[in-house]
Amino acid sequence: MITTRFAPSPTGCLHLGHAYAARVAHDLARQNGGRFLVRFEDIDHTRVRPEFYEGILEDLRWLGLTWDDEPWRQLDRLDHYQMALDRLKMLGVIYPCYCTRKEIEIELANLAHAPHGPEGPLYPGTCRSLTNPPRDREPAWRLNLDMAAGLVGELTFKDQRHGRIGVDPGLLGDVILARKDIGTSYHLAVVVDDAAQQITHVTRGEDLLGSTHIHRVLQTLLDLPEPAYFHHQLILDESGQRLAKRHDALSIETLRNRGEDVWNLLP
Ligand code: GLU
Ligand code: ZN
Repeated sequence: MITTRFAPSPTGCLHLGHAYAARVAHDLARQNGGRFLVRFEDIDHTRVRPEFYEGILEDLRWLGLTWDDEPWRQLDRLDHYQMALDRLKMLGVIYPCYCTRKEIEIELANLAHAPHGPEGPLYPGTCRSLTNPPRDREPAWRLNLDMAAGLVGELTFKDQRHGRIGVDPGLLGDVILARKDIGTSYHLAVVVDDAAQQITHVTRGEDLLGSTHIHRVLQTLLDLPEPAYFHHQLILDESGQRLAKRHDALSIETLRNRGEDVWNLLP
């Protein structure tokens, strides 16, 4: 059975872009007699505000999108992410990183050929073979890409729009899998939860296409199934910028109060 999910962060209200993303996931499930789940990506508790959990569900109800089961909160699942992290530790594919943002910046500035990815400079690997870890700092944990790539071999994923894509494990560099302040990361949590909720079709904006390369590596390392992907278009404002919280005028709440037909505003 097809199972999809919508995974908003309760750090703000839903806007038109979220409505589109939610509808894509919802319709794919409903048109196939499948299940549509809601999962709150709330691991970054420093940015979460409690009123947005219910506010988001309220918006979804008003949009006429119904979901199955009680929505999950990632904050309830930290022990599962920790277990996944421990497993990666045992495989020897992650390492502690003590760098501050500032130190990474300086390191990159000093390199003649700083590594680059689609989203900017990549972590230069400073802590990969650290012999004397500083004792006064909590580390973040990073994926050791070379090690991981060697273990997983050649991988692909299937995207509904782009077809089969070969995984480039190095695309995002040695990504952080556990931030020092929250103990986990988007990449780790989403991979663990998509498997735990038996998501068959991951639908999300095409801005996350790059992340899927890393997710396939993690799924393989953790022995998790491979979902199908649909990276849909992003909803942009008049000047071609992707929608964000500053677009108050396009929040679902505002549109609801104005009595607008949201679906008419979307492709
Ligand atoms: N919270 C993410 C977003 O709104 C969703 C990530 C995902 O679906 O994997 O873009
Ligand atoms: Zn480091």
